[in-house]
Amino acid sequence: MSNSNKARVLGLIGMALAAVLIIVLAAVFRKSKNVEVSSRSFAMGSVVTVKLYVAGDSEAAEEVQAAIKLLDEECISWRNDTSELGKWNRTAAAGCRVEISKDLANVLDKSLSLADASDGALDITLRPVLTVWGIEDADEKSFRIPEEEELQKARENCGRKDITLSVDMGLGKSFLTRNREEVVIDLGALGKGYALDIAYDLLKEKKEVTGGVIAVGGSVLVFGEKPDGGEYKVGIRDPEGLPEDVLGYITFLSGTAKTCVSTSGGYEKYVEKDGVKYHHIIDPKTLRPAKSGLRSVTVVCEDGAYSDGLSTACFILGEEKGMKLLEKYGAEGVFIREDGSKFITNGLSGRVIFE
Ligand code: ADP
Ligand code: MG
Repeated sequence: MSNSNKARVLGLIGMALAAVLIIVLAAVFRKSKNVEVSSRSFAMGSVVTVKLYVAGDSEAAEEVQAAIKLLDEECISWRNDTSELGKWNRTAAAGCRVEISKDLANVLDKSLSLADASDGALDITLRPVLTVWGIEDADEKSFRIPEEEELQKARENCGRKDITLSVDMGLGKSFLTRNREEVVIDLGALGKGYALDIAYDLLKEKKEVTGGVIAVGGSVLVFGEKPDGGEYKVGIRDPEGLPEDVLGYITFLSGTAKTCVSTSGGYEKYVEKDGVKYHHIIDPKTLRPAKSGLRSVTVVCEDGAYSDGLSTACFILGEEKGMKLLEKYGAEGVFIREDGSKFITNGLSGRVIFE
């Protein structure tokens, strides 16, 4: 081979090696650099948004969406007759122990803890009363203002004492017993928060996921690093405004451990009649839409089911009793009063910014 040919071959080999190096470096760079992946879907009667920071390729956002849908449709939805809870509601014979899944047992256990701690303000057996009101579809047709007698009659079919959750330690299994035929369970007050818990459990196993934000309706999970090192900001909705209007934000530093933020308010689902707003959170003491001097309550704690259940319970109980309830669970909160003034618990001081 002549010298000029040799030089050409060497040149070509050099170029090929450079190309391979560029491809390898690009792959390494892509794997180590955090990119944002997001996905949007609908489950539990709400929009579900997933935003994750991942190092390299990841299907995690889609997996989270699928897991939340599965939890809703196959396990905890009371609206779906074929879910585990739907079937129990329809078919469990009074007095019979029915074996239930780990997820259903977990969320029921937390519901019953909150029912006791809130002195019955959170009552997952209140469905017959909710149905009489027919508020939740925010549909003028199913809504009407019931007579007191009708409410009292529906109340007779509710009762936390009418269900028993038991665990057989030896078998490692959980059972749910209906003590009276009429009783049914509705996990609407804390199901969305529990969805955040299962999402986090799935994501903590994924090495490539370094942080993210997941929202299921009014319940939001934030965790891990933000690639720009900035803060996570979770909006507090303006109860009087449009869905996109926020009163302010709660901030969480990049690198935050699992944190769940849930808001409950009379603005979420309501029907307006003769100038009065009838909303979907019912006070078991009055059997009417809760009226405790609050427009909304936002609760912050590590556990999603508790943050969701606590925000509903605090909205019913009002500021004073609500704060005491939060203390029992080591949770923090932002209370928006009916007159628009605000109360922030000590643990959040300096972290809430109002617009
Ligand atoms: P949302 O689900 O709209 O985010 P909440 O978390 O506050 O709002 O839960 C409201 C739901 O909880 C209602 O749609 C109903 O299914 C249920 N619910 C209403 N009142 C009570 C109550 N006192 N105890 C338990 N569940 C309730
Ligand atoms: Mg709730």
